[in-house]
Amino acid sequence: MTAYDPNNIFAKILRGEIPCFKVFEDDRTFAFLDIMPRAPGHTLVIPKAAARNILDIDPDDLAAVMRTAQKIAHAGKAAFAADGITLMQFSEAAGGQEVFHLHVHVIPRHAGVALKP
Ligand code: ADP
Repeated sequence: MTAYDPNNIFAKILRGEIPCFKVFEDDRTFAFLDIMPRAPGHTLVIPKAAARNILDIDPDDLAAVMRTAQKIAHAGKAAFAADGITLMQFSEAAGGQEVFHLHVHVIPRHAGVALKP
């Protein structure tokens, strides 16, 4: 697998080199709004550790990411009066990944409303 690139855009967000709308942060994870939301409240949860994707991440960091994703899911459901939540995670280009720092999409959903493309 290709090595982790410390100059990917989410690494730059973690270092404060690129602005973002921060939603949550703890010692191991960081969450911010997606710049092209597929629904209102679309949030990305990332590890602070350097990890390219699901094939690369330390299991303890992955557990921390999922704990944060659950917090964001509850918050998104409350804030947007959502009927449900969609989680998505893409790994490697063939899996649909475009930014190569692991991220979990947390997307509030409403009954009968499709995701924006
Ligand atoms: P896909 O683009 O197929 O969803 P990824 O899972 O790699 O693949 O998702 C990258 C996500 O990162 C996209 O939803 C995109 O809108 C988002 N994104 C890219 N740049 C930024 C940024 N600077 N701030 C917030 N979100 C970003």
